[in-house]
Amino acid sequence: MTASVTIDRVTQTYGGAMALHDVSLQIAAGEFVVLLGPSGCGKTTLLNLIGGFAAPASGRILIGDRDMAGVAPAQRPTTTVFQDYALFPHMSLADNVGFGLRMRGVSRGERRAKAAQMLALVGLPGREDRRPHELSGGQRQRVALARALAVSPDVLLLDEPLGALDLKLRRQMQDELKAIQRQVGTTFVHVTHDQEEAMALADRIVVMSEGRIADQGPPREVYLRPRSLFSAAFMGEINQVPVVQGQSAIGPYPGTGMLLIRPEAINVTGGLPLGEAVVTDAAFFGTHVRAHARLGDLTLTLHLPQGSDPQPGQVLALYASAHAFLETE
Ligand code: ATP
Repeated sequence: MTASVTIDRVTQTYGGAMALHDVSLQIAAGEFVVLLGPSGCGKTTLLNLIGGFAAPASGRILIGDRDMAGVAPAQRPTTTVFQDYALFPHMSLADNVGFGLRMRGVSRGERRAKAAQMLALVGLPGREDRRPHELSGGQRQRVALARALAVSPDVLLLDEPLGALDLKLRRQMQDELKAIQRQVGTTFVHVTHDQEEAMALADRIVVMSEGRIADQGPPREVYLRPRSLFSAAFMGEINQVPVVQGQSAIGPYPGTGMLLIRPEAINVTGGLPLGEAVVTDAAFFGTHVRAHARLGDLTLTLHLPQGSDPQPGQVLALYASAHAFLETE
C-alpha cells in the first residue's frame, strides 16, 4: 500500500540534450513529495521514469527494495494521474474506477464495491452509475484520482493533475488531495510549477532547475532558508542584497554572498537595520500593503501590515526581521 522510492544517480538525455543530470533523491514510504520547477526543468521526465514510461540513460530507480529496470509500467506498483483525466466516456463511473481492477482479473462484485468505496473517498458517494459527461472538470479529476487509487498502488504519480482547474477549485482540491493522501498513506509524487500548490500539499518540496535538484526540504525550510538563489526566487518574491567582503548597500555584513530578505520580513519597527529608504509606490493587496522603496541603489519590495498607508516620497527607517545568507564564494 506504500513504498519508498530511490532515485540513484539518474541521467536522462533526449537526442544529446540532457533533461536530467545525475539526479539522486530518496523518497520515504508514505511521504508526499512535490517536484516543483519551471517548464522544461525535468520534473515530468523524472515522474515518467518512476512510472516506467521511459528508461533512464544511466542510473537506477528502486521502488521499495526492487530495481525497476526493465519493469513495464503496468507491472510497477505505481499508477499515474494526468492533467487530462482520460476517462472512458461510454463507461459508468463505477466501470471507470474499476477498470484497473478488471485488468487484474478482479470479479465484478468486488470491483463494484471498491469503486463505491473509492468514489466516496474522493467526495462522490453514490455516483457509481453516472457517466463522465454529467460531471464538472473538478469531479472528473476526482474520478481519475479514484481510478488511480482503486488498484492500491504503493506510489501514486500525479502530473499537474489540477492544472486545468480554475484557481478557486484548485485550492479546494489541494486541501482534499492532501487529506486523501493522509487517509490512504500511499506515497505521492506530485509535479507542479505552482509554488503555492507545492506548499499546500508537500511534506517535502523538491525544487528543480535545468535537470538538477536546486533545493529540497519542508515548505517552511525551502521558503525561509533556501539553499539556492534559484529556489529562493522560485518560492516567492525575494530581495537580494549583494555583500562583498563584508560590505553592502545596507551596511556591513560578514562574508561575501547574497543576503536574501522576503518582502514580509521588512518592517519599520526593529531587527537588522537596513537604513532609510524612500517609498516609490504602494498598493493595497488585502492581506498586506505591497510597496517599493529606494535604498541607495537598491529597490526593495516590502509587504507592510494591512493598516499601513505609505506614501510615495515618504522616508521609512527599515529593518529586516528575518533573512537568509547564501555564501557565493
Ligand atoms: P513542463 O512543466 O513544461 O512539462 P517539465 O519540467 O516537466 O516541463 P520535462 O517535460 O521533463 O520538463 O522536459 C525536460 C527537458 O527534456 C525539456 O528540455 C524538454 O524539451 C525535453 N524533453 C522532454 N521529453 C522529451 C522527449 N520525449 N523528446 C525530446 N525532448 C524531450
